[in-house]
Amino acid sequence: MGVKVLKFGGSSVADRIQLNKTKEIILSDPTRRYVVVSAPGKRFETDNKITDVLYLCHTHREHNLPYDQLLQVVEDRFLAVAATIGSKVDVIAEMEVIQEKMKQGCSADYIASRGEYLSALLVADFMGFDFVDTAGLIVFDEGGRLLEEETNRKLAEELAKHEYAVLPGFYGTYEGTDEIKTFSRGGSDITGAVVARAVQADVYENWTDVSGFLMADPRIVENPKPIHIIAYKELRELSYMGASVLHEDAIYPARVAGIPINIRNTNKPEDPGTLIQEDHEAGPGTNIVTGIAGKKDFLVISLYKNRMKAERGFIRRILAILEDFNCSFEHIPAGIDNVSVVIAKSDIGGRLKELMRAFEKQLEPDSMECFTDMALIATVGIGMNRRQGVSARLFSALADAGVNIRMMEQGSSEINIIVGVENKDFEAAIRAIYGAFAENI
Ligand code: ASP
Repeated sequence: MGVKVLKFGGSSVADRIQLNKTKEIILSDPTRRYVVVSAPGKRFETDNKITDVLYLCHTHREHNLPYDQLLQVVEDRFLAVAATIGSKVDVIAEMEVIQEKMKQGCSADYIASRGEYLSALLVADFMGFDFVDTAGLIVFDEGGRLLEEETNRKLAEELAKHEYAVLPGFYGTYEGTDEIKTFSRGGSDITGAVVARAVQADVYENWTDVSGFLMADPRIVENPKPIHIIAYKELRELSYMGASVLHEDAIYPARVAGIPINIRNTNKPEDPGTLIQEDHEAGPGTNIVTGIAGKKDFLVISLYKNRMKAERGFIRRILAILEDFNCSFEHIPAGIDNVSVVIAKSDIGGRLKELMRAFEKQLEPDSMECFTDMALIATVGIGMNRRQGVSARLFSALADAGVNIRMMEQGSSEINIIVGVENKDFEAAIRAIYGAFAENI
């Protein structure tokens, strides 16, 4: 029998209605054997996420403020779920343990992890699956780095003993201790990926409240088309530029194990969602562009120096200055005697003048200019490299929309064309590019 690992996000386990959908999805396929759950999320716009309330409990305790009412919110939420699904889990007893640990001064990670812990206990009971705690199975070194191989071995060993199981997402323990350590926020996605790797799943289904990735941000483009298949490397480019549905670190464990990730929608299980896999066929009949994403607020410093080309080590010196400022760069497009450095504004913060002074002093350019309001847009698609006229189509669309291009770059892998436009033109540029490639066969 095949094996599927499923991860359900907070909205899929938020209340009885959502839990019923979740249960139906799991039971509709007997190969859906291992289920990872998040803590209950929002049921409506102004509702609280349980993890946020738990972090707030910690903050209150740190500042010697009362936190009983906050813990009560958590308890009430789990009690309501337990009652509506007819669970035998003793929520009150579990909450007493948490309260006791809080009095003893437990860590923020421990408190935050209890949302996933209780959620998994309830879902396991509701499904009639075994509950398998990830404490002691997902392990971190003392610096907080995931011990991938050890985690893989421990999970594989334990899960071999359970045909069907529910596991809490988001946390594990420091190696050789029972001290809880959480991943960063949204980390249940990573738990799902490491579980998928451990049981060598055929697919890792990540169930959320959207039907996968869209070709462009729906806040900018009206009704963008869904992306059915995307390669890992395309996703990496798009998520770097701000498109996100999945925790970045969740991709790696699935990718090394060769397991495709399928993003699915709990509220629309009939939608195929997005399949993320190693590669996909690019050729006639397939999309040229897979997706478009971008971010605002970059700055570009352009340096011109007569006979720059003949000077040895010019770019190395630029990089050394950036390193001194502990500032990373996004792109360094270069001409014959000029070079530009593109930096995220947030990376340089209030030190821009200082950086320019360092460039001035150490590089002695003939002229230097800084443009501070640039947005970067990435147009990504494996299908671009074997087609002619892709850039022409993109640039004419931008020209027709009256967008001035401040910078452009196409990597030699040719899966990505990046354009820099003024912040004010960002939305118009994305709409124009989308318009040029939406019907992109
Ligand atoms: N509950 C955690 C969070 O809100 C982890 C997760 O849901 O993935 O960040």
